[in-house]
Amino acid sequence: MPELPEVETIVRGLAPVLEGRRIASIELRRPDLRRPFPPDLRQRATGARVIAVRRRAKYGLIDTDRGDTLVFHLGMSGSWRLDPGEIGLHDHVVIETDAGRRLALNDPRRFGSLDLVETVRLEASGPFASMGPEPLGESFDGAWLAQALAGRTASVKALLLDQRIVAGLGNIYVCEALHLAGIAPGRAAGHIARPRLDRLALAVKSVLRAAIAAGGSSLRNYARPDGELGYFSAEWRVYGREGESCPGCGAPIRRRSEGGRSTFHCPRCQR
Ligand SMILES: [Zn+2]
Repeated sequence: MPELPEVETIVRGLAPVLEGRRIASIELRRPDLRRPFPPDLRQRATGARVIAVRRRAKYGLIDTDRGDTLVFHLGMSGSWRLDPGEIGLHDHVVIETDAGRRLALNDPRRFGSLDLVETVRLEASGPFASMGPEPLGESFDGAWLAQALAGRTASVKALLLDQRIVAGLGNIYVCEALHLAGIAPGRAAGHIARPRLDRLALAVKSVLRAAIAAGGSSLRNYARPDGELGYFSAEWRVYGREGESCPGCGAPIRRRSEGGRSTFHCPRCQR
């Protein structure tokens, strides 16, 4: 499943292809992905000039000069293919720019989405309305965590996965950040001292930046928008490493399963 670093990598790959270009055509090859495409999407996007490609949480945002934003989510298996040789069964949306570049939104499992929202209404609409700060943004820091987690008895891991507290973090990077910060995943969030929350915020940024630098990491094959198929098995510290030695202390890494999600942690380093 593409996580925030993968989406960031994809957005950075799409930007030079789309920014400043007009959308010469947009072909919807089926009526929906996870939900129906907006009925006026094609008409509103065709001929529009792309002014920016950016990311919010795990959503990619394509702003046009008509005051609209195309919002895509890659779901479980989505990717963009750049200049595909031929359009395949799972290429559900095909965009062609006025420079003759083609982008195909490929999504075999169809858990992804593509919507069109007025840019000025974006922050208040759908999933964005209740979303917390970007983990890589300036407003996400120890002070924010202290305020957001105050009095909360739920585990720090559960609350880091809560999109209202911080946007776009998934299981892998939460496990990694908690290990880097030396905080046990099950610790009651409201009982963590401020200096440790400062460390946690820095750890979140650090693991995300490292993954973005590595080109995004993923559990499955997915195409980067430069058309290259990549399998990014990142150098995770604890994720997927049950029984291996902790990079901090050498103790065996433990895995705990809850609600279908695995938590990987070091019982010695993380308190
Ligand atoms: Zn350890």
